[in-house]
Amino acid sequence: MARLELRPNCELCDKDLPPHCAEARICSYECTYCADCAEKVLHNVCPTCGGNFVARPMRPTVSWRPAEKLGLINHPASLKRVHSPFAMENILAHVARIKDLAPKDR
Ligand SMILES: [Zn+2]
Ligand SMILES: [Zn+2]
Repeated sequence: MARLELRPNCELCDKDLPPHCAEARICSYECTYCADCAEKVLHNVCPTCGGNFVARPMRPTVSWRPAEKLGLINHPASLKRVHSPFAMENILAHVARIKDLAPKDR
């Protein structure tokens, strides 16, 4: 089964975003940010793809269907911290040109 990569940190401010953190936001490519950055800095524009964010679902700890071998116990969160490759000035210009378009019109 394909699975979402649960990245460990905000790619902008580097805040820790553990798997059961309610503040994690993701775009369709799994770029991951904290709620503060996603809302207040990025205005719901992914710095990489320009798409919108949604709350990252919380993967259960255990495999509620043992035969399926799911849950964090079988598919743990990634430990590889990710940082946006774009400079802040570049990100803010990117956000400014996209933020007023509804996600479906981007
Ligand atoms: Zn952040
Ligand atoms: Zn993205």
